[in-house]
This record gives sequence, C-alpha cells and structure tokens, in this order.
Amino acid sequence: MPKKTSQQKKGSAGKKPAASHNADESARAKLAEYRRKRDFTRTSEPEGGGARKAPKLAFVVQKHAASHLHYDLRLELDGVMKSWAVPKGPSLDPAVKRLAMQVEDHPIEYNSFEGTIPQGEYGGGTVMLWDRGTYGYGGSNPDPEEGLRAGYKKGDFKIVLNGKRLKGSWALVRMRGDTPGKPQWLLIKHNDEFAAPGSDVTAEHLTSVATGRSMEELSGGNSRVWHSNRSEKRKTGSNTGRGAEEPQSPKAPTTAYERLMATRRR
Ligand code: MN
Repeated sequence: MPKKTSQQKKGSAGKKPAASHNADESARAKLAEYRRKRDFTRTSEPEGGGARKAPKLAFVVQKHAASHLHYDLRLELDGVMKSWAVPKGPSLDPAVKRLAMQVEDHPIEYNSFEGTIPQGEYGGGTVMLWDRGTYGYGGSNPDPEEGLRAGYKKGDFKIVLNGKRLKGSWALVRMRGDTPGKPQWLLIKHNDEFAAPGSDVTAEHLTSVATGRSMEELSGGNSRVWHSNRSEKRKTGSNTGRGAEEPQSPKAPTTAYERLMATRRR
C-alpha cells in the first residue's frame, strides 16, 4: 500500500491523535494555574474546559489594560491556548523583536472574552479582542501538528497567522537563560508579503476587532483604562486582594511580567 502521496490527505479517517481521549483531562491539568489565580464568582472570565477542539487552530490577541498595558497572544495547541504577554504588542516590522513573556495556559473559551476584570482580581482591568483568526504551522515538518508541537517544545515556534490585522509568517523564539517556569520569548515577524517595515500596527488599530469598541467604551467608564501619558501609581498593591486561598508559597506574589515591568520603570 505505498499510497503515500503525503500531505493532501486531509481526510477525516486516518487522523487520530494518539492521546485524543485524554485531551479533556490533559487540558484540565494545563488549566490548573489559570483557575487557581481566579475567583470565578467575581470575574466573568470563563472557567474553561468545555470547549470542543476547533477544526482549525485558533489564535487571538487581547489588548489588556491591567496594571500595565500589554497584548496577550494566545495560540491553540493540544486543547488549550498557549499564552504570552507581549508588553509592546506585535510588530509587522521584521527588524523588530518583541518580548513575549509566557504566562499560564488559558482555556479556549477565553478567545471570546472581552470586557472588564474587576479591580483587585487577578489581571484586573479591561480586555479588548484586538485580533483573532486561525493559525497554522510555518515550518517544514510534513506533519503540521507535530511540527507545531516540536517547535513549541524546542523554543522555535514557527507559525502562520490568519487574522484580521496580523497575517503571514512569524516566529516565537524562546530566549536562553530565562526563569524556569516563566519562559521569555521573542515574537518576530518574518519577511513576507505581510511584513511592513516601519509600521506600527498597534497604533493603527485601536478598537475591538469583534465589536469596534474602544478601550474606554469597553471599560464602561468606571474602570481604569491605561493612558500612555499618565503615570500609574496607585496600583502597586492590587494583586494582594486575590483571595484567601492564594498560597503563601515562596513563589513571588506578582507575575514575571509585572516584575519585569516594575524593574523597567525604576
Ligand atoms: Mn493579560
């Protein structure tokens, strides 16, 4: 049966991921940190775990005015959204490398979350759906899903985005010497027809890709919205109100992202 014409065989039959029936369990385990950090009686963010696997892999970028403005890049892989906080957001300029700090896996349901996380809760602030779509593999492995998994593991994650605002080939490259458990990556646009040297895509698009609303409109007027020309002083202690069950472990009380931003502002 050497009928092995490779690729084109996208039929439903042969494609049975080995760990398919373990997927739910595996996604639940991956979401443990996400859930631990949140009080779902207080935030309208999804608990996750109930989403069906999409036929195509999803990606989303959420603009998040938390204690510091950042963009959350999320890429579906094995039942969860692998997630990175990108302080400056993506750039279409191949010469620009954007720091992307990996954060906990998020549930696939998070992809439709837009709104306000209450102040004092984890990540409190306004979340805007800034871009979304599907993505695929940008490397040379003949099995795209395997290529994605291997690339992610290796720290050389080659992706092709098909969003409204972000398109084409990109790489996430893990930096050496990062903190175990909180890897730091660089997000880099490859030079293709969607590259735009010198452009500033986050400044060009200031509204929700889903609803057209601005950050101000999303915040409903009563929530803190980040302004680049205003210093944010009052937020220093905000993450202490997370709830009684937050373990007093040796783990630092703030995220790697927040620690980095704090050192940068000194
Ligand atoms: Mn965030």
